[in-house]
Amino acid sequence: MPIVVTAIPSKFGIDTHILRPSSTILPDPAHQRELIDAAIAVNEAPTLDEAFQALARAGLSLLDCDRLTVVAWNNGLSLGTIQADTGESLGEPVPAMDGSADAIRNELAYSGPPQINGFSTSLAGSLQPFAHVVRVPLATVHGIATFHALWREPLTDDAATAAGELLRTLTRLTSIAERSLRESEQLKLDSVLDGVADGIVFSTATTATPNAAARALLAVPEGLEFKTALFNPRELDGTSFELPPDHVPGAQTIATGEGGRFRIRVTALDGRELVLDGSISRAPGGAVIVFRDVTTEHRREVLNEHYLYALFNSMPIPLTVRDASTNEIISANQAFLDLIGYVLDEIVGAAPPFPFWDPNEDKTAGFEQPGTVVRRVYRRKDGRPLPVEVLSHGIPGDDGTSALLLGVVTDMSEKRRLDQQLVQSGKLAAIGELAAGVAHEINNPLFAILGLTEFLLKEIEPESKAHQRLELIQQTGLEIKEIVRALLDFARENAEERHVVALDDVIRSTVDLVRRTNAHKGIELIDSYNDGGARVNASPNQLKQIFLNLVANARQAMPNGGTVTIHVHRDGEQVIAVVSDDGPGIEPTALERIFEPFYTTKRLTGGTGLGLSVSLGIAESHGGKLTATSEPGRGAAFTLCLPIAQETAE
Ligand code: ADP
Repeated sequence: MPIVVTAIPSKFGIDTHILRPSSTILPDPAHQRELIDAAIAVNEAPTLDEAFQALARAGLSLLDCDRLTVVAWNNGLSLGTIQADTGESLGEPVPAMDGSADAIRNELAYSGPPQINGFSTSLAGSLQPFAHVVRVPLATVHGIATFHALWREPLTDDAATAAGELLRTLTRLTSIAERSLRESEQLKLDSVLDGVADGIVFSTATTATPNAAARALLAVPEGLEFKTALFNPRELDGTSFELPPDHVPGAQTIATGEGGRFRIRVTALDGRELVLDGSISRAPGGAVIVFRDVTTEHRREVLNEHYLYALFNSMPIPLTVRDASTNEIISANQAFLDLIGYVLDEIVGAAPPFPFWDPNEDKTAGFEQPGTVVRRVYRRKDGRPLPVEVLSHGIPGDDGTSALLLGVVTDMSEKRRLDQQLVQSGKLAAIGELAAGVAHEINNPLFAILGLTEFLLKEIEPESKAHQRLELIQQTGLEIKEIVRALLDFARENAEERHVVALDDVIRSTVDLVRRTNAHKGIELIDSYNDGGARVNASPNQLKQIFLNLVANARQAMPNGGTVTIHVHRDGEQVIAVVSDDGPGIEPTALERIFEPFYTTKRLTGGTGLGLSVSLGIAESHGGKLTATSEPGRGAAFTLCLPIAQETAE
């Protein structure tokens, strides 16, 4: 009994159907049962081959024939054509086919577009035992494959009518199946798109269809038209794109055909500020925009940059970053800028020789290479020399070679000062030991010289040459006496008795003394106090000596007059007195040496070079410090810091 079977197997990426018995042609319940079983077998077959075999077996059994042709053809055929063709063919046995698409087309007067994937020969072979197999192109247009089983035996009229009936039924079913499949495909596509976490928008020139993620991300309610301007899109730096209100996403790509990647800022309709990252590409009839919310990542990246810069900038160690190939300065941190006294803009982009290099320095010394330490002398913007050590680290780039050089700069002036202080305290201690002995040794003969000179002066004619020479001897002797006294002071300074005194009292009485004698001749002396009467544990006489020295030095530095200012203030647990003048100041090279014993630039005018070293000794023995700063041509300032005595320190 002939029959036509149509199946759309579900296993092969497609929707379910078929094998439906028609009561018209298969009134026999036994056949219905068989047909349903065959449908199940075809639909449950694990492979396409097996589906075919199941189909062929069902056909052989149901048709009760020993030869069967299974033809498969794709959905690209219109169903109407199938019906007509098949109907026609049903009238006569289908001759054996050689398996080519053309043959089928000829046999069935099939005029649909020939399509794709031919069945495999193995499949054809596997069906040979029970069916005459025709290999035909099988397309998966819309993902549907349709199989028709045909037979070769001549049909009875009844059978032909029944088969025609069945075919119509199946055709109807197939068409329903196809429609519902299309709908479900669309639904499936929508649900797939809506299931995607990324925002997807399909745009035509005038409309944009967002998926659920796109709507959720931008808080766009259902029904609201998806226009770009709603979200105020702008560059990462905030520059707005200022789009017309009816602009749809991707409109430009649709117009120009050019897509690309983007990272922009937008404001979601619920007010959230977002950073979106995505791409726009052309699609048939419009453009597809796919995007993601990267707000957090973006913020992290930006934060990283900020943090790293803040870290670099707040490092207390002076640092520079240079381009390893050109040595140009890319950046420098605040500690470095503070050290050299330049602002960043003045040095960024500078190539060697850098503005902060000492112009007199030997340029052949070579430039810092990664892993090396170079000693050089910088010149601060104010002209002061600055000995430094620069340690260079290479920072590798993508290719592993040094892309950047990190310069770690150590200010050596402090170390040098400490070294000098060490040398100096050594010298001071040695002098202290010697001083007392030497002073005594000198004092005795000196006493004799001065005594005798004085005696002789009285005896000799006052205006005579001899008298003048004796006066010279006496003057020189007195100078020696002065030096000896200074040495003795120096040696004795630790021995002096100390008690708690207000520093401003000590200074006031010193200033008084200076004013009453002619020690302030030609200079204006200004004193001011802002230390709240801070008290120190000290020897008042020794402190007086410091101030007398400082004022005397200032006066001597300003033979044509000037102003000496003494200002006293408190700084935490310290009281600070600054003695400054507006004289010629001290050259940097001299500044490094003025506290050395016997260093003087006034040798010709009787300078001993002991004033400052004695003063420093006194300051240090009081647990304090005496330092000097000077801008050549603009005066010098000496700062005495003393710890405030415990009783007033609370
Ligand atoms: P002296 O005054 O005997 O030379 P000091 O130890 O007191 O010895 O001073 C050392 C040197 O420091 C001086 O010779 C001078 O060159 C320099 N000096 C000290 N104070 C000043 C000042 N106020 N202005 C300029 N130079 C100064």
